[in-house]
Amino acid sequence: MNILIFGCAGFIGINLTHHFLKKKHKVIGVDNLTYASNIDEINLLKKNINFKFFKLDIRSKQIQRIIDKSQPKWVINLAAESHVDNSINNPNKFITTNINGLYNILLFTERYYKKLNNINKKNFKFLQISTDEVYGSLIRGSANENFRYNPSSPYSASKASADMLVNSWNVTYKLPTIISYSCNNFGPFQNKEKLIPKVLLSLKNSKKIPVYGNGMNKREWIFVKDHILAIEQILNKGKTGNTYNIGSKNNISNLDLIKKIIKIVKKKNYLNLDKKLSYYIEFVKDRKGHDFRYSLNCNKIKKKLSWKEKYTFEESLEKTIYHYFFYKL
Ligand code: NAD
Repeated sequence: MNILIFGCAGFIGINLTHHFLKKKHKVIGVDNLTYASNIDEINLLKKNINFKFFKLDIRSKQIQRIIDKSQPKWVINLAAESHVDNSINNPNKFITTNINGLYNILLFTERYYKKLNNINKKNFKFLQISTDEVYGSLIRGSANENFRYNPSSPYSASKASADMLVNSWNVTYKLPTIISYSCNNFGPFQNKEKLIPKVLLSLKNSKKIPVYGNGMNKREWIFVKDHILAIEQILNKGKTGNTYNIGSKNNISNLDLIKKIIKIVKKKNYLNLDKKLSYYIEFVKDRKGHDFRYSLNCNKIKKKLSWKEKYTFEESLEKTIYHYFFYKL
């Protein structure tokens, strides 16, 4: 089966590509290799005969040729500008990639879909990978799939806009789409601008870990491999026109997460960390419009698709830290 992945060189894209190749699927990957991509890993993957890579911007008209040539059964869009801080400093790319780029993909996917025979039409799915951030900051409770959109950063607003377009292509043009909303992912191959690699890099280089505000902002964290198993389950069993939350119930403040990481690094003796927590961190001016808390209600995917997390938080965090210390930081 052919699977077309946009954004295959990013953090989740690399993990997803590895997963589908292990399952002996044919993967066609598209990515324009921004600073956030894993170029070395793409070069290694290119040795696999079941992987075809195209360095291409999703805003390019050439996307049409790639979709038609690939004859995919599933199209997955992960390509995005993904770092909230960058969206605050320079929103332009977030609008042109996350919204206009996605529009370009939808346009050509629909043209491809229309040409398929009825059997292939029945099997075809387009999956847009969205984020819990579109629901905005929650004071209490958890957001289910019917929760109102309330994005607060240019990043989450661009993702929310993309979701609206996907939904309109489903309703208006009958493109078989699904949207999934994941909480914060962690695992191998994440860019060093993101919290967990940034904490490890700071510790390794004996630099202070910058902590926004008072460090009390809470996020829900999922191991990237659990997210990938959820994506696979959604593509196999999910109903088109539907949306699914993918969360973990691992809700933790940034400060507590940093403490946990330091504890693991100490326990494993990766570094000699014998000072108090306050020695390693530095509170910095809070992010503009910083959302306080996200939390997902995942009853739908659990009940309807029988998906549940496979990996424990502690174990997967240990695996992640091991990766960054011994493979790539
Ligand atoms: P990432 O930033 O690590 O990877 C994004 C990839 O998209 C990069 O390889 C980049 O080169 C590529 N890209 C960017 N602009 C492009 C363009 N114009 N044309 C082609 N390729 C382009 O992001 P990630 O963490 O892997 O996230 C992937 C997707 O999942 C994003 O859409 C993000 O919004 C969503 N998501 C991520 C998380 C998370 O915690 N990482 C959580 C929820 C949702």
